[in-house]
Amino acid sequence: MSVFTGKEKLKLGFGLMRLPKLADGTIDVEQVKVMVDLFREAGGTYFDTAFAYPGSEEAIKKALVERYPRESYTLATKLIVNDPAMTEEDAKKEIHTSLERTGAGYFDYYLLHALQRSNYEYYDRYHLWDYVKELKEKGLIKHYGFSFHANPELLEELLIKHPDVEFVQLQINYADWENPGVASHKNYDVVRKHGKSLTVMEPVKGGALAKPFPAVQEIFRAANPDVSFASWAIRFVASKEGIITVLSGMSNIAQMEDNLSYMKNFQPLTAEEEAVIAKAQEALLADKSIPCTACHYCTEGCPMQIPIPEIFAVSNHEGLYPSWDAGKGPYRIATQNRGKASDCIQCGQCEAACPQHLPIIELLEKCRHFE
Ligand code: SF4
Ligand code: SF4
Repeated sequence: MSVFTGKEKLKLGFGLMRLPKLADGTIDVEQVKVMVDLFREAGGTYFDTAFAYPGSEEAIKKALVERYPRESYTLATKLIVNDPAMTEEDAKKEIHTSLERTGAGYFDYYLLHALQRSNYEYYDRYHLWDYVKELKEKGLIKHYGFSFHANPELLEELLIKHPDVEFVQLQINYADWENPGVASHKNYDVVRKHGKSLTVMEPVKGGALAKPFPAVQEIFRAANPDVSFASWAIRFVASKEGIITVLSGMSNIAQMEDNLSYMKNFQPLTAEEEAVIAKAQEALLADKSIPCTACHYCTEGCPMQIPIPEIFAVSNHEGLYPSWDAGKGPYRIATQNRGKASDCIQCGQCEAACPQHLPIIELLEKCRHFE
């Protein structure tokens, strides 16, 4: 069996999860069009949306699908089962909604989305592994894989059970490489052992590594003051073997331009640069901020409508500038008309949904002092 490696020329994929927004909260499609054009001019082909990213599939229809020949780019989207109330029929309808929203006719890459301990059994129960094969036979998708947020043992189990899977999407970044909760390194080794290629999400850890912990900033500045912090993070991942593309969830034109400046003519990290990353990884051990990527997977099912990532952002900011009162104003704004940390009823829904495996209930307890 030949190993599927994708056909992408640029090792940078345009992640469509954090698109720029207008003041009214809708996606700024005109800015997305400029970003798409810059990406295309640099040779970029891979676009990554999902049924679960609000407004993203509709935005890419306007910014890409209606403006470029279909065969000139590859489009990925995803099928998610994240609510026990969903039926098999609901799950199987998602692709038809995605096709309607994007107008793309077919998807080049289709992923079973965000598999983790709390939901992976639904994908079996609803026969979704067989379903993606049927979709491929019908020509509605070209390749299928899954995105994954759990431990190497479960990953191994899934790859043994589903050897036809063509690729796997993992969270990999230098901060999580040896993080036991995310297990980037071990999961990467499992995927490669099974001879699969990878697409990579969160190379900049939800933007956190674009402005890392101050001690890490100093290390990178000393090594090369002329490149962005994000460039270290993305090149770290793109230098690994077997990577189809590294997805960066870009939110504005400046981020697109910066990413393209070093990915257009990509050079893998040198041995000296690898040593700089190792130093940064060591320094990160002293970082006590909450490693939340603001993905919002936790908030949808929260019965108390607690803005969990926004509260953690306030807490992280206060950690950098420790003063008891500093976080109170931002906390009040973040929780206006929504639940507060003290409203948590400890139902555990959020923890089951969190891809970073954060102890959200315990962390919220600690944030109550902002009230
Ligand atoms: S445990 Fe608390 S924060 Fe988490 S979903 Fe339940 S109420 Fe919301
Ligand atoms: S707490 Fe977890 S699920 Fe919620 S936004 Fe942060 S990383 Fe995502």
